[in-house]
Amino acid sequence: MRMIDIIEKKRDGFELTEEELFFFIDNYVKDKIPSYQVSALLMAIYFKGMTFNETRTLTKLMLESGDQIDLSKIEGVKVDKHSTGGVGDKTSLVVGPICAACGLKVAKISGRGLGHTGGTLDKLESIPGFNISVNDEDFIKQVNEINLAIVGQTKQLVPADKKLYALRDVTGTVPAIPLIASSIMSKKIAGGADIIFLDVKVGSGAFMKTVKQATELSKLMIKIGESFGKKVSIAITNMDQPLGNAVGNSLEVVEAIDTLNGHGPKDFTELCYKTCSHMLVQSGLVEDSKEALKLIKNSIKSKKALQKFVEMTNYQGGDSSYILDPSKFEKAKYIYEVRASKSGYVKHIDALQIGEYAMKLGAGRAVIEDKIDNASGIVLNKKVSDKVDSGEVLCTIYTNKENYLEIIKGLEEQFVISSEQIKKPKLIISVID
Ligand code: URA
Repeated sequence: MRMIDIIEKKRDGFELTEEELFFFIDNYVKDKIPSYQVSALLMAIYFKGMTFNETRTLTKLMLESGDQIDLSKIEGVKVDKHSTGGVGDKTSLVVGPICAACGLKVAKISGRGLGHTGGTLDKLESIPGFNISVNDEDFIKQVNEINLAIVGQTKQLVPADKKLYALRDVTGTVPAIPLIASSIMSKKIAGGADIIFLDVKVGSGAFMKTVKQATELSKLMIKIGESFGKKVSIAITNMDQPLGNAVGNSLEVVEAIDTLNGHGPKDFTELCYKTCSHMLVQSGLVEDSKEALKLIKNSIKSKKALQKFVEMTNYQGGDSSYILDPSKFEKAKYIYEVRASKSGYVKHIDALQIGEYAMKLGAGRAVIEDKIDNASGIVLNKKVSDKVDSGEVLCTIYTNKENYLEIIKGLEEQFVISSEQIKKPKLIISVID
């Protein structure tokens, strides 16, 4: 078999067999196929798609490219959550600690930034010393002892996704439904949790631009989950504007800490509480969302959720004094306020553009080797529907790049101001169980 024939077959729109998909995955993991050929195949998949059988087979082969975690040694309901990726999406940093404080076992495998979106691992690594490379044994021990671990894929866990994920990030091949579904589902199945909650983002800052695409991806992931005997529930949520206010690694960690202290941005807090509530009800720990909300609010008020974040940070080698005193996070050298040139109401903030500006300011990668600057990013001072006066601050940029004025050219225009009052956009579009 030759890789060139597989590329051409997919380029011409044909269904790949299990043997062909195995050839591709197995040889890529063993470094026997050059990444330029894999990039070509990914691009062909992006344009030609995959059938359900192909996507399920790809998921299975990716899953089998490494080990699966046996969480049976953990007592209690094991939960995992995953987002398809958005701008300012630091939900796991809040949902994990809350669910853990409420008694769930949160065994979470996270990813790095992809395209214009940030990744939970990059965010956690902005906490000095925080180690995301934890072996399976220590992962299980940690979840057993403190109910919470957020770690990266080990070399042994879905190595095929680990390599493909990094390659897709820099080849413009992230937003392909079969590639996203197989990437997420292979990791979630390998992660071994009983309850899987997926947040499928839709809108300008998401890989899925329309509710139709997001629904298609959601149904596909549920079907793949079912075929592996897993219960998957999904929320389709709005990513037309960034989630919360902060975009950028340590800036987002600080916002997550604020939220765990009970004073996070409204939209972000709402999504975190709804996600936790859903997971608590699904796990059978509480009867209904009313009871769940009571438990969640209590975990915030009592600081038990914040304490879980501290415990996780300590366990994973991080300096938890940063969690207790976020002012310790290193500040960017340049802080600059972008001001409105007219008055009105914010009608639209393009999440994709904000994500890309944040990336260029240092918060993301353009090529695999790029190093992330943890302190850089953008904090929104205005969100959609807010009233704004001419001269008021729309957003604040944080960067260590001296040429930032050049980089942020056009940033102000990403805030569309209307003279008419705007309704707050709906954050949770639908939930599919
Ligand atoms: N998150 C993942 O883990 N994989 C994708 O492909 C997209 C988002």
